[in-house]
Amino acid sequence: MAKPKVATTHMAGCFGCHMSLLDIDERLIQLIELVDFDKSPIDDIKRFTGPVDVGIIEGGCSSQENYEVLKMFRKYCKVLVAVGECALTGGIPAMRNTVPLKECLEEAYLKGPSVVGGVIPNDPDIPLMLDKVYPVHEVVKIDYFIPGCPPPADAFWQVLTALLAGKEPVITYEALKYD
Ligand code: SF4
Repeated sequence: MAKPKVATTHMAGCFGCHMSLLDIDERLIQLIELVDFDKSPIDDIKRFTGPVDVGIIEGGCSSQENYEVLKMFRKYCKVLVAVGECALTGGIPAMRNTVPLKECLEEAYLKGPSVVGGVIPNDPDIPLMLDKVYPVHEVVKIDYFIPGCPPPADAFWQVLTALLAGKEPVITYEALKYD
């Protein structure tokens, strides 16, 4: 029987949530026995090979490319899980939301103290920045949220194994407390 499929993506974030997922350590062997990974930076599969059971989203929606990836994940994934504060709230990248995009770009590429003869990048291959960084639930419907920066490995494990068993995920207090 075919195994359930899991896809993951990284958007405006730091990859720390993916690192935390890998932090389930030896349970990775169990996970690989339970599921096949589809599109994900973990296996470097770039395109969906078909419908996926669980999609995991790290990072906020900061660019046109992020927006399109999110829409694609919603289309292909039966269940979509947002992980980490960047996905849930915009996180650190959303600090730019307090400054108009034009000013952000000018400061980074034209006026910053270390810039000499700068230019604002405008190559068509570079994804267009959105006016601000959006939490992912403002762009597509999200089924489950795992908070944390990053969420602990145990929280990933508890949610994933519950979903794969067809159960409602419950994250224990120990996996959600932040001292
Ligand atoms: S939530 Fe934290 S760990 Fe995850 S991508 Fe954002 S900054 Fe990195």
